[in-house]
Amino acid sequence: MKIILIYPYFLDQRVKTEDVSVVPIGLYYIGALLKENKYDVEIWNWHEINKTPHIIEEELKEKKPDVIGFSIVHANRWGGIDIARIAKRILPEVKVIFGGIGATFLWEHLLTYFKEIDYIVLGEGEYTFLKLIQCFDEGSYEKISEIKGIAFRKENKIIKTDNAELIHNLDTLPMPSKYFEFQHLSSSRGCPADCTFCGSPRFWGRRVRFHSPEYFVAQLEQLYSKGITFFYISDDTFTMRKERVIEICKKIIEKDLKITGFAISRVNYIDEELLYWMRKAGCIQISYGVESGSEKIRNVLNKRIKTEDIMRAFELTHKYGILARAYFIYGSPGENWETIQEIHKIKPLSIIFYILDIFPGTALYDDLKRRKKIDDDIWLSRVEDIMYFETDPQLSREMILMFGQRLRTEYYKYLPDFAMSVKLEERSDLYQSHADFLSRLAMTFSHGEYSIMETIPNREEVAKKLYVRSLSYFPNQRAYLGLGILLQKEHKYEESIEILIEGINRFPESESLGTCIGVSYMNLGRFEEALKHFLRFPKSVEALKYAATCYRLIGDVEKESAILKMLASS
Ligand code: SF4
Repeated sequence: MKIILIYPYFLDQRVKTEDVSVVPIGLYYIGALLKENKYDVEIWNWHEINKTPHIIEEELKEKKPDVIGFSIVHANRWGGIDIARIAKRILPEVKVIFGGIGATFLWEHLLTYFKEIDYIVLGEGEYTFLKLIQCFDEGSYEKISEIKGIAFRKENKIIKTDNAELIHNLDTLPMPSKYFEFQHLSSSRGCPADCTFCGSPRFWGRRVRFHSPEYFVAQLEQLYSKGITFFYISDDTFTMRKERVIEICKKIIEKDLKITGFAISRVNYIDEELLYWMRKAGCIQISYGVESGSEKIRNVLNKRIKTEDIMRAFELTHKYGILARAYFIYGSPGENWETIQEIHKIKPLSIIFYILDIFPGTALYDDLKRRKKIDDDIWLSRVEDIMYFETDPQLSREMILMFGQRLRTEYYKYLPDFAMSVKLEERSDLYQSHADFLSRLAMTFSHGEYSIMETIPNREEVAKKLYVRSLSYFPNQRAYLGLGILLQKEHKYEESIEILIEGINRFPESESLGTCIGVSYMNLGRFEEALKHFLRFPKSVEALKYAATCYRLIGDVEKESAILKMLASS
């Protein structure tokens, strides 16, 4: 039996595709459980397949799956429906299963209106999905109604079975890393909080379950052995159990896994000891759901965190050389010019802004149904979601756009001050990581995301100061290079050479530092000295191109053409 698990596309184009490009970890867990039970499974990340729609048919015709499972996170449900329609046309016998948070909260609606969907797996899906596949495999269709946690059509009626029990011990699940490669992984399921805009509380039931540190680190190790060194921990609140997280961190250090990663947490589950160990184990960013600078708005969203706690968490996170990023929502009930002013108290070094959205399975959606006397039929519209402001006469699209603009302007105006005011823990074993943190931050201002934002004042000046500060802690390759390039931009070639030479003495193998020194010498017309640096990297196309130019400029045509020939033949 051939099973394909598909993560389908979204309707709307995103500015940053990383918001939607990652296959949810749940699909890997299902895939691993099926493989462990000897089923033939593939996972297809089709988040962009709508850009090349002919491939949908081609792939389905070639693979001829017996079963297709779709991972639905609500906003990609139309992608799932579209692909399911094509699949049913080409392969009328194929069984189509929808699962995930988007399918769980709209099961009745989906089965009522979309005949191409045969089954819906509700809630936590691994064992339910497996049991369904086993029934297909054995041809025992009569047993399907005994499986807990599914909804389906039978004799023109829609049937929903009892809820499946949550998996008691998550470690009993086969490790997805045994079969797949991925960077986003989770160490727990669930969140104890109850924010009105979030589907997690109802999907997982607010009881949090954890993998053991052994299981989680073994999975990291397995992925590390496959060459993956950067990870995203997508738990709702990774730091909820401090001792457990410290144990994970110590194991990562003990096993000498040279990894870096991002995590997500809540501001009230953070303290200095925890942050210390997280940084030591390679954590370089923690995202916190702040949602609003205004306590009044946070209360409306049932966020239940205090401004002082947010300020403290951001300050402490930065103190340990971890970038604290804020998720920020605007366009909430009661939003006004006053509530959106309060952003700068928190001093985040990065923010992701969202407009408040309403999804099924949330308290906000229940409230919408009550207020507007509507039902799930509204999802028959080919839309991804409903923005809260569209349902509130006190708000309008123009107002929301202006709020968003004001928030961003306010934030970016103060961002250089936030970056310059970071206080780091004075502890010598952290100096190397402080240098790394400051140079990464500097790079966002000099070459990264912030470098192209006109609304951020003094970007290069800020970057320069951060690079210098980085080097005051520990020699850092990124800082030497960044500083060298900034000085080149200011035409201070002598100074640039000085700092880059200091860098290359520390990192003699660095091709980028060597090439950059050569470029500075070229700008001073000192081609012979430039050549010495370029020729140290005979495998670098860039260095060789510069070397050829140097030969041309000093009139050595023979050597120039020898290099050009070599480049042409390589
Ligand atoms: S938004 Fe975050 S803190 Fe709130 S319920 Fe969802 S996962 Fe938990």
